Amino acid sequence: MSTAFKRVDLATVPWLDVLATLGLTEEQLSGSGASCPVCGGNDRFTFDDRKGNGDWICRKHNGGNPASGGGINLVMELQVLDFVHALDFVREWMGDCSRQVTAPIAARPEKKNETKKVFFEKLTRAFYETGDELVAGSPVASYILARVPGLDIQRLKNLRQNKLLYTDKGKPDKAKSGTRKVFGDFYAMVGRYQNPEGKMATTHRTYLHPTKSAKLEVYRDGSSDPLDPRKQGASLLDVHGGAIRLLDPTDGVVGVAEGIETALAAFMLTGVPVWSCLNRVLLAHFIVPPGLGIHTVHIFADYDHVDINTGGSPGMVSAIDLSKTLKSKGFKVVMHRPSKIGTDFADEWLMKVQRGGRLRVA
Ligand SMILES: [Zn+2]
Repeated sequence: MSTAFKRVDLATVPWLDVLATLGLTEEQLSGSGASCPVCGGNDRFTFDDRKGNGDWICRKHNGGNPASGGGINLVMELQVLDFVHALDFVREWMGDCSRQVTAPIAARPEKKNETKKVFFEKLTRAFYETGDELVAGSPVASYILARVPGLDIQRLKNLRQNKLLYTDKGKPDKAKSGTRKVFGDFYAMVGRYQNPEGKMATTHRTYLHPTKSAKLEVYRDGSSDPLDPRKQGASLLDVHGGAIRLLDPTDGVVGVAEGIETALAAFMLTGVPVWSCLNRVLLAHFIVPPGLGIHTVHIFADYDHVDINTGGSPGMVSAIDLSKTLKSKGFKVVMHRPSKIGTDFADEWLMKVQRGGRLRVA
């Protein structure tokens, strides 16, 4: 046995992160009753982290008697390792992930809800912080290039690739335990969303198809509507006014759009560095970050079909709201709208490319 094994102090292991890596879901790590990651069931498993060793209890383990242990026992069971090799696994994990474990483990929370909140926040950070920078040929880079041909991946900021578990909680009316469905690990494009002060306020995931350069397409049993491949993490801070800052502003000029792909396509069409506000509600509330010398904001609206209830195109309404606010604060605003109703700038760029338009060298 190598002496290195002995240096693993189990109380210093970031168990939430290690166990999330092994596929334990948010629910299983929440501190409330959940299905057991080893033997299943509905609510027999509780991760209580009682002693800070990743402690858990399963009330009917493998269909039999109650069992309990620490995080290391879960590693042994899930990875089918003996104790020594499970320690080795954790040691390697910590070595591999040392750059990701940036903060000391939070003080052991007293209450279940606190455990849950801390867990979701850690997980939200980890989605991005444990991800890899984008490189040509990687699944996320290939996806982006399929959606936004001609883009220079190297220029992108605040986007990473990570392989993450995709699960679905089920419909709110069936949100009782046992309805969560685990679909497996998929590559995801993970965006780092910053508030106007530049602090990470949340992260955004777009899960990708395992074989095609497209978004993930999975269904609940019996449904013909695919589940949303996009998921927003917990709010670490108020998300009001923020954006994923995909490209550096140039000469005091920046653009904003709703989606990531739309923002990148708008950049290809105009050369304006565009950020993603994720959705139209957040776009309407975008705040120009101080300290970057930004004086001009280009707004790239989604030209949604008219909502029969309001009589307006939702994407356009949000863009106009933002335009008014920014102008009242003294910013120069340039509005952009796709030429065809029911489209966004990602569609517009693809149409241009397909028509044989010359690719801009970005
Ligand atoms: Zn069990």
